[in-house]
Amino acid sequence: AASLQRLRRTEPHIKSFLYVSDDVLKKAEEIDRKIAENEELGPLAGVLVGVKDNICTFDMPSTAGSKILENYRPPFDATAVGKMKKCGAIVIGKTNMDEFGMGSTTEGSAYQVTANPWDLSRVPGGSSGGSAAAVSARQCMVSLGSDTGGSVRQPASFCGVVGLKPTYGRVSRYGLVAYASSLDVIGCFGSSVADAGILLHAIAGHDKFDATSSKREVPDFASQFIARDNLDSKPLKGLRVGLIRETIEDGVDQEVISSIRGAASHLEELGCTVTEVSLPSFSLGLPAYYILASSESSSNLSRYDGVRYGKQVVADELNSLYGESRAGGLGSEVKMRILMGTYALSAGYYDAYYKRAQQVRTLVRESFRAALDENDILISPAAPSAAYKIGEKKNDPLSMYAGDIMTVNVNLAGLPALVLPCGFVDSSSGALPVGIQMIGTAFEEEKLLKVGHIFE
Ligand code: GLN
Repeated sequence: AASLQRLRRTEPHIKSFLYVSDDVLKKAEEIDRKIAENEELGPLAGVLVGVKDNICTFDMPSTAGSKILENYRPPFDATAVGKMKKCGAIVIGKTNMDEFGMGSTTEGSAYQVTANPWDLSRVPGGSSGGSAAAVSARQCMVSLGSDTGGSVRQPASFCGVVGLKPTYGRVSRYGLVAYASSLDVIGCFGSSVADAGILLHAIAGHDKFDATSSKREVPDFASQFIARDNLDSKPLKGLRVGLIRETIEDGVDQEVISSIRGAASHLEELGCTVTEVSLPSFSLGLPAYYILASSESSSNLSRYDGVRYGKQVVADELNSLYGESRAGGLGSEVKMRILMGTYALSAGYYDAYYKRAQQVRTLVRESFRAALDENDILISPAAPSAAYKIGEKKNDPLSMYAGDIMTVNVNLAGLPALVLPCGFVDSSSGALPVGIQMIGTAFEEEKLLKVGHIFE
């Protein structure tokens, strides 16, 4: 009840949620009854979770931030949601997001603008801005987001919370509204590394409904979270950390760079050796990402034709039904991406754009492999700046895209990455959080969680 009250008090200012469940108390009472009757409880019993609105929930709307899915209620739960519920979690509501995950500020939602709890005049980041703001404002304990090019990690950094992007395939995408299927993953937000890790444990694993989900065993992530009092003075002795040189160069806010350098010294105090490494293909990742993500989205979004889901207009002929449903149901950023993607995939331009972007993807993957052969983890900022003002980049998509430079390469390579608060920058309105990104080898989330837990 106290949590719900806090949500009610903060929500008019922050607007993290597109929908709040009306039976949270009933579900909480059910948990109380289980406790009273000594029934077995799951590892997330009574934990209040926010779920990004592009993740399907059968008892709540799932709009993906788009008018074209207004009033859409999926007839099923996404696998990740079903698994959480089985562990006893209570879904408190659906969180705001940029339409179909396309954006970096949550201003691209067709419904409302979410504010950053640290400074209400700033963006929470995006596209999972609602999920990050909700945890930051303690409206829920943990939340689910999705990360195609940084949508869990950048908002975690802007809102001063922990964000975990699992390895591609670690979590089933069944029930996640597809944006760019070769890059999309469901990720976790928490106010500590342990919270995010425990949530990942609940949702990870193979799923017969998603052929790209991995059959690898899911380690017991919780065993990493040993009490810090029992650690010796150099608990990370021998760990090789590579600081990615291209991420601390020109174009990155000086205070962000100092925070990352401070974090690197802290890792050294904990016993790590930190050296600078170069990822030569780093700057190619951004244009390659936008070509591939737009191309895949142009194919994925063709299903919103006004017939199968959501909004349908009355029209006397099929083509105008398609046209008018899409014209009114999709926002301008989404339309632009569909056009860019269709262009990149079209016969005359395929070799020049899509194919080359795929080649860059291979280069990116190889440069990460080389860097991770020499290092246990890589570190970088999670974003080139702290949270900026609402409206500042809204009409300048290229500068917004440029802000994704720290995160998109990781999706191209399918690697796991953890973002956690590591410092602050000064702003006219006070301190704003800065996040460090720790990148690991595929399926080694365990190592990231251990390092993150000891670091924080
Ligand atoms: N900002 C990036 C984009 O707009 C990443 C979004 C995401 O990860 N969903 O594509």
